Amino acid sequence: MTATHSTRMLILGSGPAGLSAAIYGARAGLAPIVVQGIQPGGQLTTTTDVENYPGFRDVIQGPWLMEEMQAQAEHVGAQMMWDTIVEIDLSQRPFRLVGDGGTVYVGDVLVIATGAQAKWLGLDSEKLLQGKGVSACATCDGFFYRGKKVAVIGGGNTAVEEALYLTNHSHDVTLIHRRDSFRAEKILQDRLFANEKIKVLWNKAVERFIDGGGVAGLVGIELRDTVTGELSTIEVDGGFVAIGHHPATELFRGHLELDEDSYIKVETGSTRTSVAGVFACGDVMDKVYRQAVTAAGTGCMAALDAERFLAETDFEAKAHAPA
Ligand code: FAD
Ligand code: NAP
Repeated sequence: MTATHSTRMLILGSGPAGLSAAIYGARAGLAPIVVQGIQPGGQLTTTTDVENYPGFRDVIQGPWLMEEMQAQAEHVGAQMMWDTIVEIDLSQRPFRLVGDGGTVYVGDVLVIATGAQAKWLGLDSEKLLQGKGVSACATCDGFFYRGKKVAVIGGGNTAVEEALYLTNHSHDVTLIHRRDSFRAEKILQDRLFANEKIKVLWNKAVERFIDGGGVAGLVGIELRDTVTGELSTIEVDGGFVAIGHHPATELFRGHLELDEDSYIKVETGSTRTSVAGVFACGDVMDKVYRQAVTAAGTGCMAALDAERFLAETDFEAKAHAPA
């Protein structure tokens, strides 16, 4: 028989946004259920040092921060579900969602905090060599390249942080960027330029990841100069693509309004989406800030918006109920 779980507040996603919404929702007595998805704890579980989340004088670890956030949410009464939502019906309240094993979740309100996922370059050779030298997560896979040559592709905070992180394992890290300046924060750039294990290749795009054949996997990267068009090759054992993320919104296409970049549209200054009773928070609706603290902040906003929505609809239902 299919299991059904009902709650006043259903939350999709267990990153900083979903867990902050859960903490506020639980403390408001809404007994939230959090469906965690395939990445419990969200993106921060793929990183190491976090030094810009307020409240900690010393550097903390991303996975540790998310464990603490989950423990706090559970401590105040939120319930975690190890499941991923694959089907939604937002046509009427309560909303009905289905997990990948068929479990049904019913919520009076829905908070969407499904975050974002790594972008890939879209090359055939990249797909072919994923798991054989090509990765999108240095903190997950960097360890496998101890003492080997690695490259990172990208020019944002993630790319610079991944390059710095990889110097824990490798003495030869190349950062490949398609332009001649980074968009990463200055403090990270300063650290990067001061690190002798890292060299930067400017104005270079990846043309092809080179397959050594058999068990060799990745052996090099063919590059195209974005100014001159000239081709060149570097030898590497590991290639880390760090070019940003896509919002996880495919599930909501056709059900909620999305913007031109597929982020969930919310009313300015709130987390209200195009469907009454559905709220969105964190990276799934924010393409500007995309930080743990802003995700947590909008998670709090979503819970408060949801709580007010429930109070208003409950009041109206009572007012219109037969005497
Ligand atoms: P996410 O953290 O992306 O979480 C999304 C959640 O949704 C996940 O739990 C996932 O399993 C779940 N989910 C997705 N689809 C479904 C579904 N269908 N059903 C159920 N659940 C689903 N920010 C900082 O402030 N400081 C940093 O130092 C920092 N370092 C970073 C390092 C890296 C490598 C990366 C990638 C990001 C970093 N960021 C940092 C950014 C920060 O991690 C994000 O802004 C933040 O995690 C966004 O939180 P979120 O809750 O919106 O989404
Ligand atoms: P990002 O800021 O969007 O940067 C993506 C980088 O990849 C850009 O330099 C971009 O080049 C490059 N790029 C994009 N598509 C490419 C392609 N097809 N080929 C080659 N290069 C490509 O993404 P991010 O670095 O993952 O950061 C995402 C968010 O998380 C940001 O808001 C960031 O501040 C945050 N974050 C914060 C921290 C921190 O605070 N310590 C750490 C990590 C991430 P162009 O510059 O030419 O566009």
